[in-house]
Amino acid sequence: MTRIILKPHKARPFYARHPWVLDSAIERIEGQAADGDVVDLLSDKGKFVARGLYNSRSRIRVRLYTWNAAEPLDDSFWRGRLATALQFRRQLGYDDPRGAARLVFSEGDGLSGLIVDRYADYLAVQANALAMAVRLPLIVSCLVELTGARGVVVRTERGISRAEGLELRDGPYCGQALDGPLEILENGLRYSVDLAEGQKTGFYLDQRENRKIAAGYLRAYRVLDMFCYSGGFSLAASVLGGAKEVLAVDSSAKALALAEANARLNSATNIRFQCGEGFETLESLAAAGERFDAVILDPPKFARTRGAVKDALQAYHWLNRLALAVLEPGGILITCSCSGHVSREDFLYMLVGAARQTRRDIQILDTRGAAPDHPVLCSCLESEYLKCFICRAL
Ligand code: SAH
Repeated sequence: MTRIILKPHKARPFYARHPWVLDSAIERIEGQAADGDVVDLLSDKGKFVARGLYNSRSRIRVRLYTWNAAEPLDDSFWRGRLATALQFRRQLGYDDPRGAARLVFSEGDGLSGLIVDRYADYLAVQANALAMAVRLPLIVSCLVELTGARGVVVRTERGISRAEGLELRDGPYCGQALDGPLEILENGLRYSVDLAEGQKTGFYLDQRENRKIAAGYLRAYRVLDMFCYSGGFSLAASVLGGAKEVLAVDSSAKALALAEANARLNSATNIRFQCGEGFETLESLAAAGERFDAVILDPPKFARTRGAVKDALQAYHWLNRLALAVLEPGGILITCSCSGHVSREDFLYMLVGAARQTRRDIQILDTRGAAPDHPVLCSCLESEYLKCFICRAL
């Protein structure tokens, strides 16, 4: 077995089970390792720390999967990890065959670099690590066997593929190919999901529980759903929540087309869709004197790197201030951030600042994260990325 020897004093995070070994922590490599190979991680004193998979092309040189020296990373290991992750989704009750769920959430499920989403009887698989990409034939065959999926689609994230030196292409992988969007049920609502062309793997499954809880605050309200994508929150507000009317805004015409189709699927007739840039739209709504009883803010990731956090917090601050400007006194603000680098505490203080600057009393009613099929791993807090605060602004 090839051995990766850590620099002195660099072993602590890995004893604490953080799964990413950066090139900067590595002293030397004993033996030969090709990309995707199994390697052992040893302390500078030569003691076994963990076992993982190697990638010379990534800043994450080794991804760790087991801390048990007696456990080989062989086919039955991967099969076992997948089976455990799937069993937990069944336990959660996320096994409605018409529904959708994240079956595998990377580090959260001890499978760093692998994401698997189930949409009805199709799977969307994202390999965000080269070691997972080279194991796709095994992983997909286990998944098909365990789920009975009719077809599997591969999706990639461009930035990540580059960082990992991946050469995967988006498209059908095996089974029956899809000839268009498919339909899923979430919280009793029908959503059409485009696995081939949609954002992420087609739908933002992480907000499932937040959509349902949010709906409970919106009865008879006039709601603004900013960054609506395919209408996730808008439909929950209109149909589940009994909102009076919803204005749904997104800058992507493609997303809005999906959202309009989804509104029709659910016979929701009180949602109006508008194509526009988020900040500009809020500014012009405020200038036009438009007011809402509730505003939902679910913007795209503002901070892609640690260095971008300061600017991102400024952008969140400004966005939330603009939202407060169109929010009636006593109105509900549902504000989210999916930037992993922006901590929960940072986000809270951003909100404190927005309250101070606008002289509004903001009550926090519920602080939420991603749905439980996106488990947050304590030893890898990078897996805690989604913040969703439900607030009231007096
Ligand atoms: N709330 C949605 C998910 C939102 S994802 C749901 O429940 O499914 C973020 C959305 O913001 C995407 O649909 C993207 O098209 C949109 N977006 C990105 N940049 C934007 C901008 N500057 N202005 C408006 N929308 C933007």
